[in-house]
Order: sequence, then C-alpha cells, then structure tokens
Amino acid sequence: MARQRRNNNRNKKNNRRNNNKGNKNSFTPRLEKVTEIYYTEGITVNELSDKINHSPSEIIKMLFMMNKMVTINTSLDDETVELICMDYDIECTKKEAKEIDSLEDEEEDDASTLEERPPIVTIMGHVDHGKTTLLDTIRKTKVVDGEFGGITQHIGAYQVLVKGKKVTFLDTPGHEAFTAMRIRGASVTDITIIVVAADDGVMPQTKEAVDHAKAAGCPIIVAVNKMDKPGANPDRVMSEMSDLGLMPEAWGGDTIYVQCSALSGEGVQEILENVLILAEVSELKTNPNRLAVGTVIEAKLDKGRGPVSTILVQKGTLKKGDAIVVGSCFGRVRKMTNDDGIEIKEAAPSTPVEIIGLNAVPEAGDNFRVYESEKEARQVSERRARVKIEHDRKSTSAMSLEDLASQIEQGDIQEIPVIVKADVQGTAEAVSASLSKIEVDGVKVNVIRSQAGAVTESDVLLASASNAVVYGFNVRPSANVRKKAEEENVDIRLHNIIYKAVEEMELAMKGMLAPVYEEVVIGQAEVRQTYKVSKIGTIAGCMITDGKVVKECGVRLIRNGIVVYTGKLKSLKRFQNDVKEVASGFDCGITIENYNDLKEQDILEFYQDQQVEVK
Ligand code: GDP
Repeated sequence: MARQRRNNNRNKKNNRRNNNKGNKNSFTPRLEKVTEIYYTEGITVNELSDKINHSPSEIIKMLFMMNKMVTINTSLDDETVELICMDYDIECTKKEAKEIDSLEDEEEDDASTLEERPPIVTIMGHVDHGKTTLLDTIRKTKVVDGEFGGITQHIGAYQVLVKGKKVTFLDTPGHEAFTAMRIRGASVTDITIIVVAADDGVMPQTKEAVDHAKAAGCPIIVAVNKMDKPGANPDRVMSEMSDLGLMPEAWGGDTIYVQCSALSGEGVQEILENVLILAEVSELKTNPNRLAVGTVIEAKLDKGRGPVSTILVQKGTLKKGDAIVVGSCFGRVRKMTNDDGIEIKEAAPSTPVEIIGLNAVPEAGDNFRVYESEKEARQVSERRARVKIEHDRKSTSAMSLEDLASQIEQGDIQEIPVIVKADVQGTAEAVSASLSKIEVDGVKVNVIRSQAGAVTESDVLLASASNAVVYGFNVRPSANVRKKAEEENVDIRLHNIIYKAVEEMELAMKGMLAPVYEEVVIGQAEVRQTYKVSKIGTIAGCMITDGKVVKECGVRLIRNGIVVYTGKLKSLKRFQNDVKEVASGFDCGITIENYNDLKEQDILEFYQDQQVEVK
C-alpha cells in the first residue's frame, strides 16, 4: 500500500515534470504553489500532502518536530491541519463533509437524452394475503413467455416481460424492506401493488402498506386476491379500501382494482397490464448513456465470493469493470449476473443485477455511483466511510440526548450500545431484534449499527467512540481488526446461535449491575529445566504438580514464596506440539508472555477469572 502510494506520488511528479517540458530552462520538477485548500473532517497526512503539494515525509517530519508521531494514514485534527498550512502559507477552510461526495444524482439530464425505462414495482399487504404467491406466479410468467427456460435466481429483484415490455419487481414483499429503504433515503419504487385477500378484507398491515405507499407518492394497484375462495367478498375489500382513500374506478374514483387468484394465476396478467398503463402515465424516463447511479436492494457476505450485492441501476448503464462507490464501500464491478443467473456485461436502467468486486458489504438502501477511475472511487469511499463514522457517532449522542427527558423520568435508565454484524442482513436484523428486547432492571440494549458484513475497523472505531459492544454472527474479524479492538479496548463477541448471544448479554447485564469476578486457581507446576531459544525466549520444562494448566490462563511466577511476576501463558506444548491442556502428573513446555527470567525450581500457579452470576 505504502509503496503504491509512493508510486502514485512519483507518477504525479513525473507528470508535472512532463507538463513543464515546454519550459526549456526547467529541469527540476516545479510543484505548483498552492495558496488555498478545502479539507474535510479526518483528512489524512497523505491526503493533505496531495492537496498542498508537499510530500508526506515533509509533513511527518514537521509534526515529529512538534512531538507528534504520525504515519501517512493518520487523520489530522483541525488544529494540526491549520498549523501545517500556516507553515506553508496556505489558507485552509474546513468543509462539512456532507457537502461533498453525495452519491445522489444532482445533475439534471437534458430532456433530449431521456429514454423510457421499465417501471419498478413493490408488492405490499397484510401477512398471508398472498404477496409471496403473487411474486412467484409473476416470476413464472417469464417461463411462459419463453424468454428464459432455466431456473430463475433469487437475487432480491427480477424482471419479466409484459407485452414485450420489461417490468422490474422487488422480490422482498412487505413494507418493512420498503420502509427500511425509505428511511435510508432511497425511493426506488415507481408503483406499488397492495394485495388484499378477498376472504379476509383490510387488515392492520394493509393500512400500513397504504400509508407507506402514499407517503412515498407511489401509484397503487389493489390486487383483490384469493377470488377462488368461497368466502371471497370483493365488494367488502373495495369499500374498506375506499375508507382509506382508495376509491375504485368503478365507483367513480381513480384507483385500479384487479380481482385475482395468485394461486391459480387468474387475473395476474391483468395486474401486469395495468402496471404498464400506470408506468406510461407516470412517464418513467431516464438517460441510459451516462455513468450509472442506483440503489442497493440487498447485500450479503458470501463465503466463496466475498461481498455480493444486488443493485438496481436507476440511471445510466452499469458496465463490467466500472469503478464504483456503494455506500462507503468501493471496488470494480468484477462480475455482473442478472436474475436468470446469466453473466452480463452491461445493465441498463431499472435492471437488477448481482455484482461482486466490492471491498465490503454495503447496506440495503445505500446509493451507488460509478466513477471515471478506481482511484477516485477509492478516495470518495474513504471520505464517505469517515463521514459515516462521524455521523453514526453524532446520531448516538443525539439519540441519548433526545431520550434524556424520558431517561430521567424512568429513573436514570442506562443503555448498552451494541453493534451487530452478521453474514446476511436478515440475521443482523434478527439478532438486533432479539437483543433489543432484553431488559434487566431497567437497563436496555441499544443497537446503534446493524449490518451484513465482517467486523471492520469502522465498527471498532464506532464501538470505541460510543462504548459499544460488537456482536459478530457467522463472521470473524481479521487479525488487524482484532488488534485495533485490543488497542481500543473494544469487546467483540462472536456467536452463531442467537439465543446464546441473548443469554450472554443478559448475564453480562446482570453482571453489569454488580460485576463480580472470582479468580480461581486451576493448577500448579514446578519448573524442572529451562532452555533458552533465540527467537522464542526461555522455555520452562515443567511438571504439573497440582490440578491442570490450560492454554488460556493467567500465570503467577512464585520464587521462594514470593510472587515475582504475574502475566499470561504464551505457549503450552507437549513434545513440540501445541496443546490446550495438560493435567497433573504430566510434564510440558511453557513460555510466559513478555517474560523470560525463569529459573529451575520456580513454581508456576495457573488461574482463571470466572464471572459469578448475580441472581
Ligand atoms: P404472504 O404472507 O402475503 O406472502 O402470503 P403467501 O403468499 O405466503 O400466502 C399465504 C397463503 O395463502 C398460502 O398458503 C398461499 O398458498 C395462500 N394463497 C395465496 N394466494 C392465494 C389465492 O389466490 N387463492 C388461495 N386459495 N390461496 C392463496
């Protein structure tokens, strides 16, 4: 990485040198003198160096003289940035990072560039009214069309052909996903189909669905489903829905109602044709000939393929190889697959595609944007990641401030901030929901981040900033992240069973109210021989005289009855092999972390900390 940066800088200098070629007398590189810069929160030494045209080593040296130890990746505070700029006589102004790098699309495309695009449809409605069945039946029309004879892939969205025109369906029924996306500022849906079972009528989630569709300004088609059932009463549905402001066309209103049976397929074609009519009325147009922007539908961490995201192209055309920023992740589109599982090279507007090639797992509802170069994409994503940490930090304090009054009212309630990371978003949500339900003597869990993806440095930083515990489900942090967590004193708990995590949290919370740890001595050994090995240190050949020794334990070195050192075991071996445990009566080789002054006849006492449950 460092070498790459150096090369980049060198290339830049070479370029500048080339640019100066016109000047005959100039053989030395002349760097442009910068007089003014703009920077954002958390600017690194390397980034500042780029902006002010002075090498990172110069900046590092300058800061070293001020007793500040930094590396090229260190983020600088405002005061330091100002000091450095002052030294070079450069005026610096801080900009709110939010003003920069929006992935949203600001530029209006010229009307002449716009072309028709397929509508994007979401199906909502009460549980068991037939949303999933309808989505499946619509998906099957693909096969009937003869467009594709294989097995469709569940990637979170799919496209079907209706009278030769494409229609995109989001494959996550229900308004939870719809709302989650809207909360994140993404509005991808053009048309909503609200399914109401004719034998059941309007139910609470039907009302919620209507509210959400209206709030998003989406035209609605009401699918009066289960018409094949004997108890079907479409008039009741129309009357109840009219009470919610959706008067049927047949009654003089302007809402389209279609009676159907998602199970038999009756009426489904009519629904699709009405989608086309509404789409035509809405004049859905966009410019397909530009760098793509769009939204993440879902994302997960795949064991073999890494981060896999389904994204929906909203403007422009996404191409294989494009440099892309998604939320605060970035990468190149290495592989792009459509909902038929077929690899494609280009995705036009309204096309859902599964992509791989990102450096991390984005969140559903995140925007994406294609950039001219990978370098630019990387810089934008790094800045966005920092802003996100900053934003998450602020929102946690804002949250507790907002809750202050109620906290006081409730008698100074304490909260435990938690960050949940899991292999898939669904698991993260389930874990978050279970943890949020825990309450022990008025103390509650507050999930401040819940995402699919590995535990990253950004999680550790947020946890450290907000005193949060990190829960990882079916994911493991890398060695670097573990190290960072140790440095920042962040607790990362790894699990694969939800109820165990909940149980652990409950125990910890009981402990938190009155934490009691008890030290338990588990065994003793006598040092019989010592060996000095150059790279390892001193190995003590020991005989376990009492109890046992385990790899993960504390050790006290006792010489002549005096504790001369307390620390941790570094290695435990029998006949060159690492072992987890050695019992009394056996010999073994032991090294102690950061300690080598072991002598024959020293006594080692092994102990473990055990939490005592408070009832
Ligand atoms: P969701 O919870 O809204 O996704 O509902 P589902 O699609 O899972 O459907 C719930 C149940 O209703 C399932 O047993 C379906 O087979 C059944 N169902 C769905 N549509 C129809 C229909 O048109 N007619 C009949 N008779 N049953 C249906």
